[in-house]
Amino acid sequence: MDHDTALAKANEIAGSVLAPAARQNDREGRFSADAVDALGRAGLLGLTLPAERGGSGLGPRSFAAVTAALAEADASVAMVYLMHVCAVATILAARPGTAVGQTLHEIAAGRHLSTLAFSEAGSRSHFWAPVSRARQSGAGVHLTAKKSWVTSAGHAQSYVVSSLAPDATGPTDSTLYLVPAGAPGLSVAGPWDGLGLRANASAPMTLDDCEIPSEFRLTEDGAGFKTMLEVPLPPFNLGTAAVALGLCRAAVAGTTAHLKSTRFEHLGQSLGESLPTLRAQLAMMQIDTDGLAARIDDLVDHLERPRETTMLRVLETKAAAGEAAIGVTSAAMRACGGAAFSRHMNIERLFRDAHAGAVMAPTGDVLREFIAKAILGMPLF
Ligand SMILES: Cc1cc2nc3c(=O)[nH]c(=O)nc-3n(C[C@H](O)[C@H](O)[C@H](O)COP(=O)(O)OP(=O)(O)OC[C@H]3O[C@@H](n4cnc5c(N)ncnc54)[C@H](O)[C@@H]3O)c2cc1C
Repeated sequence: MDHDTALAKANEIAGSVLAPAARQNDREGRFSADAVDALGRAGLLGLTLPAERGGSGLGPRSFAAVTAALAEADASVAMVYLMHVCAVATILAARPGTAVGQTLHEIAAGRHLSTLAFSEAGSRSHFWAPVSRARQSGAGVHLTAKKSWVTSAGHAQSYVVSSLAPDATGPTDSTLYLVPAGAPGLSVAGPWDGLGLRANASAPMTLDDCEIPSEFRLTEDGAGFKTMLEVPLPPFNLGTAAVALGLCRAAVAGTTAHLKSTRFEHLGQSLGESLPTLRAQLAMMQIDTDGLAARIDDLVDHLERPRETTMLRVLETKAAAGEAAIGVTSAAMRACGGAAFSRHMNIERLFRDAHAGAVMAPTGDVLREFIAKAILGMPLF
């Protein structure tokens, strides 16, 4: 599968599976297994796996384009997809000797959804510092942890889980593990009833003395922190920016349609023809949306050809995308007035979904802290 085919498939699924169900899934907080099935059948779950692993071997450019296309129809599904791609990258980067062959085979075949379970109730958004600690048991470990939010909780076939290494001496001496869905002791600990992204099952999960054999240890002990920053963080930040872009594009499209089709009958004009203020708001939304697209292109270029400024771009792009999505969807709420507020259109769902990006770790605040510290030459952690 090449880039254009992947994007065409994503657009086809967005139009035929995601868009018709998005409103109802949002209302009911229903995870879309249909969407995951469709993504699997289309080969998109293995998009970033190399050809020798049965995947399409496509890179960040295609991942970002596919994610944005999905988000334009339903950001919840796009979020499920991006967490899967981040988990796939982490599984693929497993230390030699890890038993990931069957999992990668299932992912390539479109039958396996994975996700990241990093955030913990104890350290909250500081995912780089898990408070749970693995307990050595023979060659393997036992994990006991409270994971505060896990996208696709209860629906994924595996979870990439962080925990402090058994002999950790510092707060970032973590290890990553691959935990299969059926592992005894692993359970969904509560419901997901978020303001936005309501259809992505981001529920809390508990690991209760969960036995993990040594062949499911993805990193060397204590190397989890380095892996988190180097492997899943860049696609996570790129993917959340792509979700933001999809939301912005949907807000521009929805607002444009509203301003063209809704009329002041007493004036004989559409809203767009009648009101310069609305035209100015729409123009600003378009400018910010295209600006975000350009930022994402720039980050893709940095990831394809890594250089000194790459990590800075990884941090900046997610921070900027979070603000852009909130700004553009807020402008759409104002431009579409009571019709948006009364939920006559999908704008308010976009507005609610757009608020997730900035609070997902690394949060917008933390990113701004990191960026400024990096510029000032201060240590980040
Ligand atoms: C929809 C959704 C899906 C999610 N999916 C996953 C998932 O699949 N896997 C996963 O591991 N996690 C997931 N998370 C968790 C997410 O990544 C964050 O850990 C979580 O949103 C943090 O919320 P909190 O209330 O614990 O933040 P807190 O840590 O309590 O932060 C509260 C506020 O303080 C600010 N703050 C915190 N630290 C600093 C700092 N050092 N400097 C400046 N400001 C700071 C934050 O920006 C925030 O505004 C998800 C969250 C959401 C909302």
